[in-house]
Amino acid sequence: MIPTVTRRTTRQVVVGDDRTGRVRIGGDAPVSVQTMTAGYTYEVDACVAEINRLAAAGADLVRVAVPNRKDTEALKEIIPQVSVPVVADVHFHFGRALEAVDAGIHKIRLNPGNIQDRKHVEEVIAACKEKELPIRVGVNEGSIVERKDKQKRMKELGGVFSDHRHGHFLAIMLAKLEEYLDIFYENDFFDIVISAKSPDPTLVIDAYTEISKRFDHPLHLGVTHAGPRETGSIRSVVPLGHLLASGIGDTVRISYANDPVYEVEDALEMLYVLRLRDRKGVDLIACPTCGRIEVDLFTLVQDVRKTLADEIELPIKVAVMGCIVNGPGEAEGADVAVFAGKQRGIIYVQGEKVATVPEAEILDALLAECRAFEAKVNAGEAKLGEKVVEIVPPDPIGELGSGMARIVAGDTERVGGGGVTPLTVEGHPGGRS
Ligand code: SF4
Repeated sequence: MIPTVTRRTTRQVVVGDDRTGRVRIGGDAPVSVQTMTAGYTYEVDACVAEINRLAAAGADLVRVAVPNRKDTEALKEIIPQVSVPVVADVHFHFGRALEAVDAGIHKIRLNPGNIQDRKHVEEVIAACKEKELPIRVGVNEGSIVERKDKQKRMKELGGVFSDHRHGHFLAIMLAKLEEYLDIFYENDFFDIVISAKSPDPTLVIDAYTEISKRFDHPLHLGVTHAGPRETGSIRSVVPLGHLLASGIGDTVRISYANDPVYEVEDALEMLYVLRLRDRKGVDLIACPTCGRIEVDLFTLVQDVRKTLADEIELPIKVAVMGCIVNGPGEAEGADVAVFAGKQRGIIYVQGEKVATVPEAEILDALLAECRAFEAKVNAGEAKLGEKVVEIVPPDPIGELGSGMARIVAGDTERVGGGGVTPLTVEGHPGGRS
């Protein structure tokens, strides 16, 4: 994979052990994906099942809440049964952090602003230092808003960013972060990851941008309380994608009011499209359909997505196109492509036409071709993306009788200017895909 982003240089922390494997965060490590369990940690079997389900979905680390002693007690049984490093989410009770360390946790998430006594923070630092566990230091917007001296601090520090859209908050956030980090530095502790989350995507962009200029610790990116997946995905991926594309960010958590598996899936897809992680599984593109469509493409695409996600491990590029008008040009670069027509589809593998099948058989035929192609790649007989796709579009009338036939018959819009433009990969006529 050719990297497209020059990432900011940071220190590196290591999370995990021999059994779970070690996840590196920062430095030259790939951007890791985190999520958090939605269930109760003290329900051991359910918690183990949820962590392992999230790990199977691609989570590199999973965080659990430990609000009560019964949660940290449960960690002793949970940690030996899970396949990824586990992070304890500690808010107000420093004792939970100490108990989690004793239970074998791999990392602590701590917001020093929520712990009243500096000595308690130092106890957690000492315990983590002894076991070489990293700590994520959070300065979330919420904890700053809750500060009793907020107004005073805003007046003192607001001038630093007086002409900035988030001036006061940024000033306070950075001042608090420096204050927190000093506690760690004075205790000779540097295995730190920083987070500065907010529900406001623009504040997230600004906060991490400013922090990245001032500190060389790895950054945990996230938007808090992003909402349901339908809107939360945009709220999260816009700022996180912006930061990551700017080289900022070393580990990410997308948070939805939904099954956390979706958080993992969407975070991974974000990293794949930014070429910050090597894709696992099929890279699926599909046309949005239009008035030229003559198969049930939406159902087909969903079926292809689900089936291939379960079956194919290599990042085979698969294109599912609704017709021949735009299909060939837009499927360029696909290893396996299907062009639908009048209740049928024609399948190509690296530019070679391999099958013409009725609509009902497209899914099975496509899966069979993907499996066969994957086997060839694994055997060294083919390479992903190796061949320049020179798809000669099918005879529209003889085989598909689809878009082109209708264009020729004059019963649909004509594309590409005057006359019917011959369909070739080099000169396909375009359209509105
Ligand atoms: S013209 Fe484009 S959007 Fe319309 S069916 Fe064909 S490939 Fe799909």
